[in-house]
Amino acid sequence: MASTAQSANPATLRQEPIPCLHRPPKPPPNAFDTVITVVIGPEGSEKKYQIYRGLLCFHSKYIDRMLNGGFKEAGLGVLHLGDVDHEDFQNFFYWLNTGIVACGDHPKLDNHKFFAKIVKAYIFADYHAVQAYNNALLDYLCLDVEANHTLSMRGTHQIYTNITENDPLRKLLVDIITESCSFKSMTKDAAKRYHKQFLLDTVLAFNDKKIVVGAVGFERSIWTSSMRARFSEQYHDHSDPEDRPVPDASTNTA
Ligand SMILES: [Zn+2]
Repeated sequence: MASTAQSANPATLRQEPIPCLHRPPKPPPNAFDTVITVVIGPEGSEKKYQIYRGLLCFHSKYIDRMLNGGFKEAGLGVLHLGDVDHEDFQNFFYWLNTGIVACGDHPKLDNHKFFAKIVKAYIFADYHAVQAYNNALLDYLCLDVEANHTLSMRGTHQIYTNITENDPLRKLLVDIITESCSFKSMTKDAAKRYHKQFLLDTVLAFNDKKIVVGAVGFERSIWTSSMRARFSEQYHDHSDPEDRPVPDASTNTA
């Protein structure tokens, strides 16, 4: 299972993948022994997926706990995820089977919608503790910025209300904006458009980095391509999945 930088987006397919310094382990051979049915969505609009049980547990510590942690789903051949969005699971399913991220075709979406789709997929991966998918989504975002020279920052409310303080996506956005943005287009409505903590993190980062606001200002694609060699070290989560906090799977109401 590739963890990095492969995408279904025609623009990013032409690019070299971002190298990962800590290639994740592969699923064990017995991960493919048993197939289970995963039912997505609330009653009346469910969609069913057939998935290798071991493969799912290998990648998602959250689902591993549901299936192997003594909850009602343990030992059953069916897993219900009633609160999960169809599109998020479809994208995850595609990645799980191919190692390729597919969150929308950028040329067909506007910049803000494209970014919102990546953020949504990232929050799904974060909640379900799918570390390799989180890393792959960060690569996908970086490759898209490299290919299309732009990045929406309008998803900061969604990001800052759903993912934790030290998350790599939060750090990536603050680094990009402080190290590549001229702030010439910043307007007085920034306090509404961006999450206040994001704006505060940006100010603090300027201080930490000893950068004067507006002193930089070059294409974000140049910033991301210059980060390739250090991207894995700076933004990938290579921690042991056993050490990661996982939402309490017993509270799933499906
Ligand atoms: Zn890495």
